[in-house]
Amino acid sequence: MTSSNSSSRLKPDTRLAHSGRDPQSFHGFVNPPVVHASTVLYPDSQTLVTGGQTYSYARRGNPTTDSLEDAIKEMEGAAGAKIANSGLNAIALAILSCVKAGDHILIVDTAYGPTRHFADTVLPNFGVSVEYFDPHLGSDIKSLFRPETTAVFTESPGSLTFEMQDIPAISAAAHEIGATVLMDNTWATSLYCQPLALGVDLSIQAGTKYIVGHSDAMLGVVAANEKAWKGLNAVHGAMGSHVAPDDIFLGLRGLRTLSVRLERHQKNTLTVLDWLKDQSSVGSISYPALPTDPGYEIWKRDCSGSSGLCAFHFPDGTSQDQTHAFLDALQLFGLGYSWGGFESLAIPVRLKGMRSATPVSETAQSVRLHIGLEDPEDLIRDLDQALKKAFG
Ligand SMILES: *Cc1c(COP(=O)(O)O)cnc(C)c1O
Repeated sequence: MTSSNSSSRLKPDTRLAHSGRDPQSFHGFVNPPVVHASTVLYPDSQTLVTGGQTYSYARRGNPTTDSLEDAIKEMEGAAGAKIANSGLNAIALAILSCVKAGDHILIVDTAYGPTRHFADTVLPNFGVSVEYFDPHLGSDIKSLFRPETTAVFTESPGSLTFEMQDIPAISAAAHEIGATVLMDNTWATSLYCQPLALGVDLSIQAGTKYIVGHSDAMLGVVAANEKAWKGLNAVHGAMGSHVAPDDIFLGLRGLRTLSVRLERHQKNTLTVLDWLKDQSSVGSISYPALPTDPGYEIWKRDCSGSSGLCAFHFPDGTSQDQTHAFLDALQLFGLGYSWGGFESLAIPVRLKGMRSATPVSETAQSVRLHIGLEDPEDLIRDLDQALKKAFG
């Protein structure tokens, strides 16, 4: 594999093209082979009992898992990386690697819904107490620390509502008490945000989104700094998490084009939002890369780009029926969860039961959009006709 010493001097796009592959170790083929495996054979019993070879059993790692883990490690500037069978599985493994019975974990109120579900339904069974915090807390998060606080889980920008968090301030505060900082970096990816450089210990991405990038596989990745790596590696191994080789192949294939795809998602999103902001039936927009967004200054400081996920809000008094009429009239935007593929998507934003530390309106009418790689003029025409149908 490309040595991390030489690759750390390479620019991110070059790392995307070269990391996690070593053609000369596989007969010169550009891409690593997709290893379908469980059993690994040993040449003799001495090698078997001493574990004297690189691979022991496919669940514990094989050349295919190594390729993606090496690539993620290099992209994130990490001490090590692990892959999981979904983004949610990556989040669960990362959290379990840094909490134990009696501990207290702080989780941002705007975390991805299923992250909350995991924290609320699984962690209490193992004696971990869970508390949610306002995404606008920076170093003031200190006021929530308890002697038993060992982890702070962040996600910036937040799911559905896109609040940016002051990750460097939160990390510095958490490290004063020795707590581990986790961040869900799915929105920006390691290309546009480098969580470990901002002070985060465990950086997580739902690889299902932009890394795979084509809506055809589920994948999760976690990158750890030196301090968090040992714990992550141990829990990952103990839990038996394993990703099928064909899905890893799709992740590796996706990584190679991540930069060109994200650049276009960003450009298309800015073009669509520039049109959307002037429509009379649209109230406001949530997208941290817009100078009008409350999170803009933090985004500018901490991120080098923005992706295709955003939300817009209908004016007060809009009914759910009107929102549904708008969504049902869309022709190019599919109605469906997930995002990060090449295609545009829309869902109604539903915050019921999703926030507990911050006040939210559960009746406000908002739509989350994923702006895909279609021509933005066609997307604008689609949004225009759907707004007209719903609002006259
Ligand atoms: C989709 C998503 C996840 C979970 O990823 P899956 O692969 O669907 O399990 C985690 N975090 C965020 C922010 C997401 O959008």
